[in-house]
Amino acid sequence: MLFVLPFLIACGGGVSADAVTNSPTNSAGAKPPAAAPTPANSPEDIAKLAEGLKIADAADGAEDKVVHKCLGCALGMSGKAEHSLDVDGTTLHMCSVGCKTAVSKDVKARLIELAG
Ligand SMILES: [Zn+2]
Repeated sequence: MLFVLPFLIACGGGVSADAVTNSPTNSAGAKPPAAAPTPANSPEDIAKLAEGLKIADAADGAEDKVVHKCLGCALGMSGKAEHSLDVDGTTLHMCSVGCKTAVSKDVKARLIELAG
């Protein structure tokens, strides 16, 4: 516990914020991500994710592990192979770079949503 001592002294010594930030003993800056947008990997979510993938896969008329409809457009547009994402062994084709970027941020949440 010796390393705590200089830190306490630094805090009590009225040093500037910059000095605290630059201190190698200061680990307070490493905060855990509080509000992560990723869904929890509960068994229920994993089941819904698989269900969502199946629904998306079947939406184009063929269950071939390739979703040919754009998930970014709620499966309303045809996707392209050049804008594809892979989710748990299923390839998702998006219609555009914009849709791919948007979907890639929360692809699992969108699939879980699809499963209802
Ligand atoms: Zn789209």
